[in-house]
Amino acid sequence: MRIHLVNPSDISFGVGVITPRWLYVLAAATPVEYGAPAVIDETLEQFDLSTVSAGDVVGIGIHTANAYRGYELGRAAREKGAYVVFGGIHPTLYPDEAREHGGAHAVVRGDGDHVWSTVIADCLAQQPRDLYEGGQVAGRSFYGGRWELLPKDAYMFASVQTVRGCPKHCSFCSVWRTDGQEARMRGAEDVVDEIRDLRSRGFKFIMLADDNFYPVAMNDLAMARRRTDPTALNELEGIRRERFELMERLADLPDDMNFYTQITMEAAEDTEFLDAMRKAHIRGALVGVESVTPEGLKAIYKDFNLAGDALIERLQVFRKHGVHVLGSFIFGLPTDTAATFDATVALAEAADVSFAQFVLLQPFPGTVDFEKWERTQVDTPKVDNVPLTRHWLLPSSRRPKIYMPHPSLKPEQIREYTQQVWDRFYSLPATWKRAKCIRSFKGRLAFVLISKLYRQMYANTGIATDSARHARANRMARWLAKPCRRLFVSPVRATAQ
Ligand code: SF4
Repeated sequence: MRIHLVNPSDISFGVGVITPRWLYVLAAATPVEYGAPAVIDETLEQFDLSTVSAGDVVGIGIHTANAYRGYELGRAAREKGAYVVFGGIHPTLYPDEAREHGGAHAVVRGDGDHVWSTVIADCLAQQPRDLYEGGQVAGRSFYGGRWELLPKDAYMFASVQTVRGCPKHCSFCSVWRTDGQEARMRGAEDVVDEIRDLRSRGFKFIMLADDNFYPVAMNDLAMARRRTDPTALNELEGIRRERFELMERLADLPDDMNFYTQITMEAAEDTEFLDAMRKAHIRGALVGVESVTPEGLKAIYKDFNLAGDALIERLQVFRKHGVHVLGSFIFGLPTDTAATFDATVALAEAADVSFAQFVLLQPFPGTVDFEKWERTQVDTPKVDNVPLTRHWLLPSSRRPKIYMPHPSLKPEQIREYTQQVWDRFYSLPATWKRAKCIRSFKGRLAFVLISKLYRQMYANTGIATDSARHARANRMARWLAKPCRRLFVSPVRATAQ
C-alpha cells in the first residue's frame, strides 16, 4: 500500500516557481508507519497512474481552477482500486461534487493537517467515511513541510506559512470564508526552524504563503480604541505584537535570505510595519490594488483602498521603505470602461510597481460575487450541457474567459484589452526600465527573466484563447524556467545555518 498526494494541473512546466506547500504539509501529516508518500505536483510533470495499485490511498487537493483535472485523476485512480480522497477549498464548498465527478470515497472539509492520519487509517480498514471535518486548525499546531521529499532541482521559491485567515471580506475572494476571519498565527520558533531547513536545501527565496501577512491595520486599532470594552483592542494589539516578534526573528537570519508575502494596501499607512518588514528581509509583497477607480473599489467591497493620485502615492510608500510591490489588478468590473485598461497600466508604471498581474473578474464559488451572479442566472446558458454556473466542470479549453455580463464592454473586448495590458507592462524596454531598481547586473537579469516567465505562465497560458499562443507560451515558460531557477537557488549546503 502506498500513499499518493497529488496537485493536479493541465499544464506542466518542468520547473515550478513556488513549492506547493500543502503537498509537503500533508506528507508531514502522514504517519511514518505508512512509509514516505509519493508527492506528485503536476505543474512539474503529469501523474503517472501506472504507479497506483489497488488498496493505495490517493489524496488529491483541488481549488476551483484545477477541479476538472483533479476529477479526471480521481476517477482513474478509483478504477485502479485505490481509495480516493479529495481536499482543498473547492471540495470544502462542494463535497458531493467530488463524489459525483471525481470518484471520491471521502472528502476532507477544512484544514487537512490533523484529520489526515484518521482518513488514511479508515481507508486501510476499508471503512472510509464520506466526509471528514478538518475544521480550522489553531496556528500553533500547523505542521511544517516534509521538505526532504522535494524532487531535485524543481522549484525556484520555497514556501512557508506564518498565518492563515484574513479579517477582510472582499467580494471576489473566498479566503475569509474558507480560512476564517481570525488570524491564526504560527509560532515564530516553528517558522524560523522551517526556514533554516529550507535554507540548508539551497533556498534563499521563500514565499511566506499567508492569506494576509498584515492582519491588523492602523484603522482596525483606531476603531477598537473607540470602544469602551478594551477586549478587541487587547486582542488586536496582541496580534500586532506577535507579527513584530516574528519579524525580529526573521531579521536575525542571514542577509542573503529573501522573503515575499501578501499584504493589504493599508500597510502603507504603517511605516513602522514596513520598516520591520525590510529588516526581516521581506523584499516584496503582493498587494491587492484591484481597481484604480473609487467606483470599482466600492463594487468589490474594497473601499479601504485608495484610487487615483492618492493610490500612486500610497503604492510608492512601499518602495520608499524597501518593499517591492507585485500589484494585483482586476479587469471586467461593471464600472470598467475602455479607458480603464490604459489608465490602470499607466498607474502601475507611475506607482513604481515592480511586478503586476492583471486578472479577469471570475465568479469563483464561495465568494459574494459568485452568489450574486448565480442568483441572477434564471435560464443559465450551457456549454456541452454544463451550466455556466458550474464552469469548472468544463475542460479549460471549453471554458469562457468572461462570465459576468458587462454593461458596456463585450467579453472579447475585455479579454483583448487585458492581454494588451500584459503585453505593454511586460514589454522588454518597460521591464528593463523597472529592472534598474536592482544594483547588480545579475540581479537585473534575474528580474527580466522572472518577469518574462511570470508573463508566460500567467498571462499567455491563462487568458489566451488561441491554442497556438497557449502552446507557444507553455514551451517558452518551460524553456525560461530552468535558467531562472539557477538564479534563485544555491547549491545544497552541508549544514543548516
Ligand atoms: S482579497 Fe486579500 S484582503 Fe481581501 S479577503 Fe481575500 S485575502 Fe483578505
